[in-house]
Amino acid sequence: MKIDVFERGFSPTPIQELTGVCPKNRVFLKREDFLPFSFGGNKVRKARHFYREIQTQSADVVMTYGSSSSNHCRIIANMAAAMGLPCHIISPEENYKDTPNSRMVQRFGAVVEKVPLSGISQAIEARRAAYQKSGKNPYFIQGGGHGDPGTAAYVECYEEIRRWEQEREISFDYIFHVSGTGTTQAGLVCGLLACGRQAHTRIVGLSNARTLERGRPVVVQSALSWLEHVYALQTGRRILEDTVEQAVCFEDAWRLGGYGCYNSAVLGTVDEMMKRYGIPMDTTYVGKGFWAMTEYVKREGLTGKKILFLHTGGTPLFFEERPGEERAE
Ligand SMILES: *Cc1c(COP(=O)(O)O)cnc(C)c1O
Repeated sequence: MKIDVFERGFSPTPIQELTGVCPKNRVFLKREDFLPFSFGGNKVRKARHFYREIQTQSADVVMTYGSSSSNHCRIIANMAAAMGLPCHIISPEENYKDTPNSRMVQRFGAVVEKVPLSGISQAIEARRAAYQKSGKNPYFIQGGGHGDPGTAAYVECYEEIRRWEQEREISFDYIFHVSGTGTTQAGLVCGLLACGRQAHTRIVGLSNARTLERGRPVVVQSALSWLEHVYALQTGRRILEDTVEQAVCFEDAWRLGGYGCYNSAVLGTVDEMMKRYGIPMDTTYVGKGFWAMTEYVKREGLTGKKILFLHTGGTPLFFEERPGEERAE
């Protein structure tokens, strides 16, 4: 079955100005949390590209990997249900939590197969082979919507940003966003390079989990993969690896000990953004990243800049219980 909002009227998402966030600079927010499917967020933008591949390949089972509490698994389970397809999630048993996302995943009827972290790749291969043996045509989506289709989604997002800039004769000096699996960043960077805008705008990925050593090479590799497999084929043009390396700015100074860790400044940001602007942000991704952006602006002493922050969604996480989470001060 088709999903109407994936076919038309999906985006652009709105961009709004926020006064009083980083004094002496102008700050804008692009609301990816408003994408019109399953509470929005960057995983929906990616899912729409996987949706197209599922249709092209006439797949009849959707498989993915991830925690059932993740935004990714909620959205893939929702998409599969909307398409009338079964959804099979391989999930690390160590990370299981009862959350708004995991409850939605259940309600969408996805099968969640809990596997110890050490046995994930074997479990995925075994399950895929079993489906194929029974005459099915499974489509597997990497955790977090990683891979060329996910990257392509954020190339499109960059193009939306560029059109908005052109219509208003404005040019962002910085684009900030939270970098997790690195796909969002890879896509934005590819979009920037494809438009030749790297001298004008700096894209800064604020890591919420991975260290620089682990996270940055993944962003670079994802960008190179899309540039080779998609961009070069479509345009006949090449972008040098060096150029990509220079355009990937990955900051791990505010990861606070890693995934799920936050401090009182992050909590303060989350409360302030909701109270003052009515904008929900969560402590795992967007609230933490938004706080990190304000710290970056202070550290670099930025003034007179036009800054865009990408609100990548995660709205259901806003309603998670806080005390159960790991904390770091
Ligand atoms: C997954 C996620 C991110 C990180 O995106 P990546 O493409 O994995 O780097 C940021 N914000 C939210 C709300 C997410 O769910």
